[in-house]
Amino acid sequence: NTFAEIDLGEALNQNIRRCKYVKPTPVQRYGIPISLGGRDLMACAQTGSGKTAAFCFPIISGIMRGQGQPLQRPPRGARTVYPLALVLSPTRELSMQIHEEARKFSYQTGVRVVVAYGGAPINQQLRELERGVDILVATPGRLVDLLERARVSLQMIKYLALDEADRMLDMGFEPQIRKIVQQMDMPPPGARQTMLFSATFPKEIQSLASDFLSNYVFLAV
Ligand code: AMP
Repeated sequence: NTFAEIDLGEALNQNIRRCKYVKPTPVQRYGIPISLGGRDLMACAQTGSGKTAAFCFPIISGIMRGQGQPLQRPPRGARTVYPLALVLSPTRELSMQIHEEARKFSYQTGVRVVVAYGGAPINQQLRELERGVDILVATPGRLVDLLERARVSLQMIKYLALDEADRMLDMGFEPQIRKIVQQMDMPPPGARQTMLFSATFPKEIQSLASDFLSNYVFLAV
């Protein structure tokens, strides 16, 4: 019933203590072990349930354990970057919040988090990406732009988290999301681990789940 009992690694546990998180919320308590165990997850969870940590902790922990690839740093002058994890979120505000939290969780771990959202100049975001990125937090429209410019490649993605998926669909992002996920479907099958978070579970979300997740665990908190 504490974070120390979940096997997240010492560096991450230290950051969790720094954030003054003592007791996991239900979505963290039940969701994190499922994701750490390598299973895909469909979680019905509301805003304020602690879902940011529920997807960030397994991603950071997994990257630190070196599952997937060694930490990627682009060679000097390279323009395409290869994040290991992607977090998709519906809005600029939510993306900024996730970025801020993920940075606290990854403090002194060597894991680098970068955010990219629309409605803001792209140049600053490009400069941040050029310095390297392990976890990319992005809104769907801006990410499609980055993919079309070949500034981001999703070929190395090991972890995918979709936050507030129902809101992304309400905002009309389904074509962009499908385009994005298509770019990471490469062999070996099952190489990618996916976490889908949604406040509601209508048939549109069920169909995303069956298209993007494999053999997933369903969690409602
Ligand atoms: P979220 O649902 O991820 O947006 O989190 C809602 C708020 O709860 C944020 O301010 C988090 O920092 C905080 N929070 C999340 N998990 C915990 C926890 N286990 N203990 C204390 N605060 C938390």
